[in-house]
Amino acid sequence: MNKPLAIITGAGSGIGRATSIKFHENGYQVACLDLNLETAKETAEMISNEGKAYQVDVINHEEIKKISEIILKEFSNPDVLVNCAGISPSPMPVHLFEVDEWNRVININLNGSFYMMKYFIPSLLKNTNSSIVNISSVLGVVANPTTAGYAASKHGIVGLTKAAALDYAKQGLRVNCVGPGVIETNMNKDILKDIRIKEMLTNQTPLGRVAAPSEVANLIYFLCSDKATFITGSFFAVDGGYTAV
Ligand code: NAD
Repeated sequence: MNKPLAIITGAGSGIGRATSIKFHENGYQVACLDLNLETAKETAEMISNEGKAYQVDVINHEEIKKISEIILKEFSNPDVLVNCAGISPSPMPVHLFEVDEWNRVININLNGSFYMMKYFIPSLLKNTNSSIVNISSVLGVVANPTTAGYAASKHGIVGLTKAAALDYAKQGLRVNCVGPGVIETNMNKDILKDIRIKEMLTNQTPLGRVAAPSEVANLIYFLCSDKATFITGSFFAVDGGYTAV
């Protein structure tokens, strides 16, 4: 019997890489998609080449359509889609946000997840019990000053997730959303180097620390597993209590 297949964007780093490893450990083949082909290949090598790396820019819907057709030919219908690819723009109050930068963050974080869902849902529906997890953020349900572009994109992902869950519930495709707090990855390695900022962020987190990407991957895997068969349309924070304050 073929192994199940997980499609993971942002697989070349951080949460996407940890998620690729988690699915591999649980018997999946993984299609590792990333803008950065080199790091996506590294991830594929880490999982004993049981996956394959593909270069994709998630803002390019034509490219995603093509890749979806290639993956379908090279593997089979996917069981899981995890949308991890994302960026975090520089902190900026709304009136100082450059229009291009605003469009870039919405395009990658929100539109990218939509394009992936648009082109992979038809094949996900061919499998029973398939599942999508979109990566939002704690800033998908709350906001901080100077985070408008990121918060808007991540709030959008929560809405996209809920609507999609309702669209496909009758067909058995579950769609959920995960909102990480502060996770130690390349995305924020520079700000976490600043001891004062790191201290501020850990103080805002009731558990008093930042987390490893694998702690997010555990939740993503659970949501796609047969332990979560009655869960759809939900947002789950994995944030050390950040949004409970
Ligand atoms: P990361 O920077 O380590 O990984 C992001 C990956 O996305 C990189 O490999 C990058 O090449 C890829 N990517 C960026 N733009 C892309 C594009 N246009 N097309 C395809 N791939 C692209 O960051 P991470 O922390 O692992 O972030 C993963 C997700 O988790 C993101 O959506 C991020 O917003 C979210 N998140 C992260 C944190 C955190 O503290 N690290 C907190 C909340 C949410």
